[in-house]
Amino acid sequence: MTPVTRRTLLAGGLALTAFGAGSARLVDPFTLGVASGDPTHDSVLLWTRLAPVPLAENGLGGMPSRPVEVAWELAHDERFRRVVRRGVEWARPELGHSVHVDVGGLEAGREYFYRFAADGHLSRTGRTRTTPAPGTLTTPLTMAFASCAQYEHGYFTAYRRLAEDEPDLVLHLGDYQYEYESGVHVAPNGNVRGVEGPRTVTLANYRQRYAQYKSDADLQAAHAVAPWSVVWDDHEVDDNWAGEVHSKPEKPQPDFPARRRAASQAYYENMPIRTAPRGADLRLYRRVVWGRLATFHMLDTRQYRDDQACGDGIKPCDERLDVGRSMLGAEQEAWLLDGFRGSSARWDVVGQQVFFSQYDHASGPVRETNLDAWDGYAADRDRVVAGFSAVRNAVVLTGDVHASWGVDVKERWDDPGSRTVATEIAGSSITSGGDGSEDYPETPEWLAENPHVKFFNNRRGYVVGRVGVDGFRVDFRGVGFVSSPGAGVSTKGSFLIEDGRAGLNRV
Ligand code: FE
Ligand code: CA
Repeated sequence: MTPVTRRTLLAGGLALTAFGAGSARLVDPFTLGVASGDPTHDSVLLWTRLAPVPLAENGLGGMPSRPVEVAWELAHDERFRRVVRRGVEWARPELGHSVHVDVGGLEAGREYFYRFAADGHLSRTGRTRTTPAPGTLTTPLTMAFASCAQYEHGYFTAYRRLAEDEPDLVLHLGDYQYEYESGVHVAPNGNVRGVEGPRTVTLANYRQRYAQYKSDADLQAAHAVAPWSVVWDDHEVDDNWAGEVHSKPEKPQPDFPARRRAASQAYYENMPIRTAPRGADLRLYRRVVWGRLATFHMLDTRQYRDDQACGDGIKPCDERLDVGRSMLGAEQEAWLLDGFRGSSARWDVVGQQVFFSQYDHASGPVRETNLDAWDGYAADRDRVVAGFSAVRNAVVLTGDVHASWGVDVKERWDDPGSRTVATEIAGSSITSGGDGSEDYPETPEWLAENPHVKFFNNRRGYVVGRVGVDGFRVDFRGVGFVSSPGAGVSTKGSFLIEDGRAGLNRV
């Protein structure tokens, strides 16, 4: 350990640690904001990362290559008059000077405020909360979920509007950042911002990219408003990767295992999660239990899946139906189905990445499905759908598709008269795809081919879910544009899922 001389300042009740004579004082290292995550009834994970020069090419954010002390405190009030916990952690260069503090021994169902200090600087204040006490059914929950925020495609206004909706919990379902270099993977109406650095391959690249994203004030506001529970999709590593396999076999990536390790490491460093990776393996599937009202089963549909059938894409494909194909991997699938069987929750909510319901892109008898989505892993989907019979209410939350969708999950997809066994809510992207439109011209045809789809909208945005004992209300929130800052938000569609009766009812 690097020896340091510490002096302790007191400001606003917080012990500010600083370094003594001989080491230069840093400029403000809290440029990446603060975050909290994965609350339980008695704990929450607090996060920050020091980076006085966020865009530094080496990924180290302008930090020296030595550990730096970071003080933190958690209080009942925003002014930190009633501090309930405080401590000091090391921000270490080998973890990108990130700090993960797992604060335990807290009161259930309570709001808290937290902040950090280092080298005489104080971070912004974040708001977080613990989940209700085990067994609690009647405390309502306002949650929001988001996905797909390609920096170049637009301003993160939707994150700002999400923060203004003041949810109790935020789920992020992947594509938190994108791997491309500037000028590649351009939005239909052009890119509006640039990213630093090359396509992300090395740890330095991923760290630099996260730092650029996290410098965004709108994203910081969304993190500071509530605890998040995050899972990745493909772009945190590489477009459409699948387990050990990268997306474009025709363009070899001999170092893909190393790239996965770098991506996993950087993801941990930059997210409010408890578990660090072992090599490339990052255990992300886990649960957030909101009393007896809701259990969130957070899935990882990238790391354990079989390679896409028929070479990926949207096309007719019989291989997608092979019974041995797995999206979740055996271990995660067993964990999920066990979790359904053991659940006494009012709402069992699956937080996951890719489109769950069957979706046919071709008119007439020919069937063209997205082989990267659950349609490419149809037998595994059947097993999950069968598992829904063990729970009272199943709701599937989805990212990836860059538009808002509301779907009745059918017992048999090709029989519109069959039972609706769950409800799928796909949230739009924060920016990916650019400004969008209220509809695609093709929409009526598509909907006719897929009668279980009840709602579609192509604005950027997020979803707010108001979860209660009798119902789960869904508001699809959309912003008018992302190509310049400052758009307002409006509700594009509102639906109610009634307790004991799967499916969408327009309100
Ligand atoms: Fe995406
Ligand atoms: Ca068809």
